[in-house]
Amino acid sequence: MARPLKVAVIGAGVAGLTTARELKSEGHQVVVYEKADQIGGMWVYNPEVETDPLGLDPGRKIVHSSLYHSLKTNLPRPLMRFWDYPFTVKNKDGVLMDFPGHEEVLQFLNNFAEDFGLVEFIRLNTEVVRVEQGNDDQWVVESRSNGGLISEEPFEAVVVCNGHNTQPRVAELPGINNWKGKQIHCHNYRVPEPFRDQVVVIIGGAASANDISLEIVEVAKEVHLSSRSQEIEVKKWDMYDNLWQHSKVTNCYENGEIAFEDGALVTADTILHCTGYKYNLPFLKTNGVITIDDDNRVGPLYKHVFPPQLAPRLSFVGIPRVAINFVMIDLQAKWVASVLSGKVSLPSEEDMSADLEQCYRLLEEKGIPKHHTHSLDLNMHEYLDWVAAQVGLPPVDKRQKEIFYKIREILPTSWIGFREMLLKQLPWISRIS
Ligand code: FAD
Repeated sequence: MARPLKVAVIGAGVAGLTTARELKSEGHQVVVYEKADQIGGMWVYNPEVETDPLGLDPGRKIVHSSLYHSLKTNLPRPLMRFWDYPFTVKNKDGVLMDFPGHEEVLQFLNNFAEDFGLVEFIRLNTEVVRVEQGNDDQWVVESRSNGGLISEEPFEAVVVCNGHNTQPRVAELPGINNWKGKQIHCHNYRVPEPFRDQVVVIIGGAASANDISLEIVEVAKEVHLSSRSQEIEVKKWDMYDNLWQHSKVTNCYENGEIAFEDGALVTADTILHCTGYKYNLPFLKTNGVITIDDDNRVGPLYKHVFPPQLAPRLSFVGIPRVAINFVMIDLQAKWVASVLSGKVSLPSEEDMSADLEQCYRLLEEKGIPKHHTHSLDLNMHEYLDWVAAQVGLPPVDKRQKEIFYKIREILPTSWIGFREMLLKQLPWISRIS
């Protein structure tokens, strides 16, 4: 085994915590930088919202978390565990929920940090502002403490775990620049009350759009969901007087009207963009080796983790989306730690680059848009099992995969009540951990 390294981990969310645990268990010297005043990342609910509700103003004060007040996990409890660390946190009434609330997830992460002795490695209130390779192969990490104190420290390796659900992506809607209503991104949605008596158009078809529309529909005059997905059925929802599903928006007019491809025309007060997030690495200086393009592709990253030219001393944990996130992140963390310890080898730089080129080519041939580069989705099981194999672990539990794919099957057509439907179709979920 190679000698232990001094490693910086950026972020103390799910990815930073699991990475710290793995590095520590391999005997590396770990420093975790966390800009917030507590660990947990996305799972720390913050009632504060940003000054620019769309999140476009680069000078705005950034709020990290995108949680809304009522959020329950969109994956059931058996998918919210780590590889060897089940989710056993009960809610305030002492009930182990099938879909835990965000408070329980945060407690789970705090328990994890406590149980594995990670707290002493974490520097809270310390934001990384620059990561750059020095002359001697070391990485320089420049950080700023809450009090504004800037300091620099050399490291032999850096693992980036800064999350990717903070920088809003906003839909480009035809005519939007002349449309006079209010616009907000769901990053800044907390509670439904501000939408009382309004006509609201919600753009997006994923979990946040669905959850939030069901909250807003209780107080708003009308809610019109709009999705560009071909799988979506255009309709008025029977069980609500005021909820419609439309296809994509074709135009926004100066008089407040919004036109949809299905022919509908509504006059709306607010557009709520539930259109996802952009990767953001403002601190990373690599002279153009690593870029984030307009289609939200971070690269080049071999298997979403290692940049061929800078591997293994620079790596990324938590980049993929649409997966069993906690297990995926845990496996990536194990892989990074094992590679840094020299227990597991990476292919040559040329072979990693060639593999990546082939992945990009395959996406293109299959007609998968570039912005889906990091969505694992239907290939999730192959990816997870591949990473597990790298670190000598068996394939991911079949039941976890079955649950994940059942959700993918149910969601496009029946997202109202999808949690209940999932439990009805796979009742054993409640009995496993
Ligand atoms: P984060 O949790 O975002 O953590 C990143 C950390 O890095 C933060 O603590 C941040 O403060 C810190 N940081 C960032 N930049 C710096 C810097 N420069 N210096 C120092 N520290 C920095 N996943 C699920 O598995 N199940 C769900 O039900 C689920 N629901 C979700 C609902 C919503 C609304 C959203 C937005 C996401 C949801 N996710 C869900 C995905 C969720 O983001 C991941 O599960 C997980 O939290 C990602 O962890 P992370 O550590 O990669 O990022």
